[in-house]
Amino acid sequence: MIKFGFAIKTPRSENMDSVSLERFNKLQERVPSFKRCFQCGCCSATCSARQFTDFSIRRIHTSFRRGDYEGLDEALKKCMLCGKCTLVCPRGVNLRSLIINMRQILDEKE
Ligand code: SF4
Ligand code: SF4
Repeated sequence: MIKFGFAIKTPRSENMDSVSLERFNKLQERVPSFKRCFQCGCCSATCSARQFTDFSIRRIHTSFRRGDYEGLDEALKKCMLCGKCTLVCPRGVNLRSLIINMRQILDEKE
């Protein structure tokens, strides 16, 4: 087989009918600005914690959006709540509030 220097990835699809979005809906109610997120990644690109760890705030809020909460509580502990992500977000998403509320919602019983 000829190698072209890249590999074709297996398509990944999510069946959104099979996941509970209760926590995500709660998060949107508490932080309405999250509805404006268009997944640009600026928050991750400027993140202070990202410079020292594998922490990715965009990956975390994308997982939350998809109802995939596994491991998020541990990952969120790496955030220092410095607020840089909130300053650079082009859609005005209040990421500090988003992070605090994600932590609280993950602590609450479903
Ligand atoms: S910077 Fe704002 S719009 Fe971009 S991914 Fe982060 S939260 Fe979403
Ligand atoms: S508040 Fe957290 S997620 Fe945002 S830039 Fe700071 S360490 Fe990163």
